[in-house]
Amino acid sequence: MSARIIDGKAAAADVRARVAEVAADFTRQTGRQPGLATVLVGEDPASAVYVRSKGKATGEAGMASFAHKLPDTTSEAKLLDLVDELNRDDTVDGILVQLPLPPQIDASRVIAAIDPAKDVDGFHPMNAGRLATGLDALVPCTPYGCLYLLKQELGSLSGKEAVVIGRSNIVGKPMAMLLIGESATVTVAHSRTRDLPEVVRRADIVVAAVGRPQMVKGDWIKPGAVVIDVGINRVPAEDGKSRLVGDVDFASASERAAAITPVPGGVGPMTIAMLLRNTIVAAHRRAGLPDPEGL
Ligand code: NDP
Repeated sequence: MSARIIDGKAAAADVRARVAEVAADFTRQTGRQPGLATVLVGEDPASAVYVRSKGKATGEAGMASFAHKLPDTTSEAKLLDLVDELNRDDTVDGILVQLPLPPQIDASRVIAAIDPAKDVDGFHPMNAGRLATGLDALVPCTPYGCLYLLKQELGSLSGKEAVVIGRSNIVGKPMAMLLIGESATVTVAHSRTRDLPEVVRRADIVVAAVGRPQMVKGDWIKPGAVVIDVGINRVPAEDGKSRLVGDVDFASASERAAAITPVPGGVGPMTIAMLLRNTIVAAHRRAGLPDPEGL
């Protein structure tokens, strides 16, 4: 069997088109564009690429983008001052501080300083707690994008066996919370899990968020499972350059899965789409408007 390839680019384009419609309506109703502020500290090239593409996508969706770039010597106090300024700026609906931060800055303090109503990454403990307790929350973009793809693929997730590999605060844990919210039966695996292949073999849904290239092998996959590969790993290519692979061995897994996300072109594009979605939702809530439909 050869798995259906889940097209994250197409799904992301749908979400972005809907966000653009809603953003235009918001601008007509309120007389201002929804706004996203990005904060980049330091020169990490991968972070700079992510922030640039987030800014570009924001503009393309008809939203205002405010880019703040600080040197890698920035103190925690200075960054907290900027966060405070953005919290108080009414034209800013979403604040995204790109991680990782330089070692002199405690990321958890910075995240906790962001107004939860503007926390479009969904990393603030208030939003994590709201998600865990089933309240309306701003949900981390990557797992929310994974959930979108799963629901598009499967419809209802109720009663499905789901295995999430990875327990980070930004992917694994919120993914598990979202799946519980959809009434799946959820197992969260991590580096101490015993006999991971056997755990994965019982899953109807596998979400791999490990950061280890092609670790999940095809013979771990239950025939007919849906596989969501969050991993982004750069490995050497035959031509001496490098290429991106996921945490799943795509070739062997697609022999057994019913559907699988590719890397690149699967989860990655959904992350930015969901950031735009969170920004427009935050803008509506801040303006006292009902949540937009279809997002
Ligand atoms: P972290 O490093 O924070 O977490 C990795 C998790 O994998 C940890 O819980 C760790 O367990 C677990 N793990 C590590 N080794 C093993 C192993 N051998 N067996 C089982 N579990 C293991 O990573 P992130 O969650 O931030 O990211 C995961 C991957 O997703 C990365 O490749 C990252 O690049 C990618 N990513 C992609 C995004 C996208 O937009 N597509 C966005 C965010 C991340 P333990 O807790 O025990 O250490």
